[in-house]
Amino acid sequence: MNTFNRLLIVSYRLPFTIREREEGVELIQNSGGLVSAVLSMAERMGQSQQGTSAKIHWVGHAASSLKHIDTSRLENETFVAHPVFIDDDVNKGFYEGFSNDLIWPLFHYFPSYANFNESDFQHYQQANTRFLEELTALIEPGDFVWIHDFQLMLLPNMVRQAVPDASIGYFFHIPFPTFEIIKLLPRTWRQVLIEGLLGADVVGFHTPDYVQHFLQSVAEVLALPTIEQRVVLPERSVLVKDFPISIDFVKFNWSSQEPEVVATRQEYQDSLRNNKIIFSVDRLDYTKGITYRLQGFERFLTENPDWHDKVTFVMTVVPSRDKISQYQELKREIEEAVGRINGQFGTIGWRPIIYLYRSLNFTELLALYTACDVALITPVRDGMNLVCKEFVASRYDHKGVLILSELAGAAQELNNALIINPTDTQEMANAIKQGLSMPLPEQERRILAMQHHLQNHSVFRWSNDFFTAFDDTMTNQPELETTLPVVPFITAFSEAKQRLLLFDFDGTLSPIVNDPSEARLSETLTETLHTLAEHSNLVVISGRNRAFLEKTFTGIPVHLVAEHGAFLKNPDKPWTRLDLTADDWVDSVRLTMDEFVERFPGTSVEAKETAIAWHYRRAESDDIEGQAVELATQLRSLSSSVPLAVIQGSKVIEVKPAQHSKGTVAATLFEDSPYDFVVSIGDDTTDEDMFRQLPNWAYTIKVGAGVSFARYRLARQRDVVALLRQMSDALIPA
Ligand code: UDP
Repeated sequence: MNTFNRLLIVSYRLPFTIREREEGVELIQNSGGLVSAVLSMAERMGQSQQGTSAKIHWVGHAASSLKHIDTSRLENETFVAHPVFIDDDVNKGFYEGFSNDLIWPLFHYFPSYANFNESDFQHYQQANTRFLEELTALIEPGDFVWIHDFQLMLLPNMVRQAVPDASIGYFFHIPFPTFEIIKLLPRTWRQVLIEGLLGADVVGFHTPDYVQHFLQSVAEVLALPTIEQRVVLPERSVLVKDFPISIDFVKFNWSSQEPEVVATRQEYQDSLRNNKIIFSVDRLDYTKGITYRLQGFERFLTENPDWHDKVTFVMTVVPSRDKISQYQELKREIEEAVGRINGQFGTIGWRPIIYLYRSLNFTELLALYTACDVALITPVRDGMNLVCKEFVASRYDHKGVLILSELAGAAQELNNALIINPTDTQEMANAIKQGLSMPLPEQERRILAMQHHLQNHSVFRWSNDFFTAFDDTMTNQPELETTLPVVPFITAFSEAKQRLLLFDFDGTLSPIVNDPSEARLSETLTETLHTLAEHSNLVVISGRNRAFLEKTFTGIPVHLVAEHGAFLKNPDKPWTRLDLTADDWVDSVRLTMDEFVERFPGTSVEAKETAIAWHYRRAESDDIEGQAVELATQLRSLSSSVPLAVIQGSKVIEVKPAQHSKGTVAATLFEDSPYDFVVSIGDDTTDEDMFRQLPNWAYTIKVGAGVSFARYRLARQRDVVALLRQMSDALIPA
């Protein structure tokens, strides 16, 4: 955090509600996960900084009816608000339409509720642009911009285009679904949404699953290479990582012992005649699984008459989005089910379900968290779910049982809960029974284990981890400015006893040419390689086929590795195949590529022995990069009995069995002998595998611009030739 000047948060909502009063504007602080998280950060920042510059700037939407207010003084002791006014019709399409009526249901796996409306998408773009305008007027060098959630997916890239050097973080607060769901979005929409997020330096999600889903979409939609958790773009890389959001553990743990909470708890327990209490609280939403939950409880009552009159289910539903018809329908369904269950099982003195349709204040919420015996949290899909964490944290008495849906993000952390599937009403009924009769020592063991986790993963850690990841990613960017320290390099090389030299061919030993069959070694380079090969193990690791490499390196005692590691040829020995794999994929890949050759003049297919490549350097179409993405997408969806790698190189898409790579072969060669000098040079994304597999003392050198995991960089191919010349000169005594 200390590395930035100011923190600029951008989210749809401001941290406070703005009310106009006669005496002026009143700011009412909102609660909620993000605001609490940021408040806790603000407290920390406040310790080291003074004055307005220490305040957190927050860009968020404000009702257009407030357009006339003086926006220069919208601040409290922590935040300075920068309201974004959006025309009402645009805001409707952007917020109610695209955000809540498309992205929300779709990303929560409710595609049938999703409304695909072109004008909503335009409004979404316009609204994101409005946020950009507000932000660009504000941003200064050294600021950190932290953008939040699905309403602003386009904004990171918009900021990146407007302010290329900006430091941008993005956090996604809802689930990121598998590509099968993303695929339902029109092609252009999904492309700009994913590109939008990749404008950030760090993109955060709640769980490792969401990270994987996002990376899968990046590969499918944009065909960009990913190295570990980084998406590699031409000029930078984006870290994609999980940061599970959490709560202020201490606040919930301590507040549950406040006198007001204790009194309210007692009042509830008395009025429920000391019955066992099951508790749930959620916003009204179809993702929360409320109707299934009622069915589960109904089944429990049906199967366990001995529990009648001894248990009460306090079910609170907080009003939300009730202008949307699906929400109204859901409310009706819930109320019908509650009426049915109470009617069927209730008696004069016992109502099985106490249903509240309203929000709770903090005291009421804490009193219910701590009065209940079982918390029943069963969403059918939830990005994280904070309610379950708050329940666990508030149990200072180490009692209570959490029944938690496996489809809440929190289930990946709270594995001492009774984890259930929310649509399986039998499993739910069984869990309720188990929870109500769980012995106290078991309750304590489970609660303590979960509290231990939450203490170590509180909301402070969430924000802190995010900023630490940002700092790390900026300091450890694979983008290296470092040029090779030539003198020590040559000395190390000439003094070494066992040398391993691993060179890529195209773009490294030979300049890139329009017609791949025209690539040649110059006479001087041939001579240089000869000298180097006589004194070292010199390996050319290429994507080229065997015949080409053999012809090109005739007479030079080099080791040749063809087709990204499929074949190896030691000097004066025949070729050996490093990996035998089924080839039932060849025909379908060939057919797909042939169709593209027919459609796009100037492109060609090269069939190698273990790979097939589509070359498009000489394509005549303007939109050929887009078509290449399309081809890569089609190729990835082909079925095959061996896993296939679809590699997008420079103006080429290549398909090969995924088992071997330049990296695996580099690692094997390195393990063969005790080398004391290793250098690997390459220019393409396939060479990144090689750089990563070598020990970190090896000289790994990237040729040209672009992000790389190599330690050093040479600007141009001709610099490689010059360097190799210096190496060979160092071997020949003057
Ligand atoms: N909450 C609230 N008022 C209520 C009930 C709940 O402010 O009447 C809070 C609750 O303490 C929790 C949040 O709302 O912090 C709900 O977060 P969660 O992640 O569980 O669900 P979301 O509503 O964000 O989908």
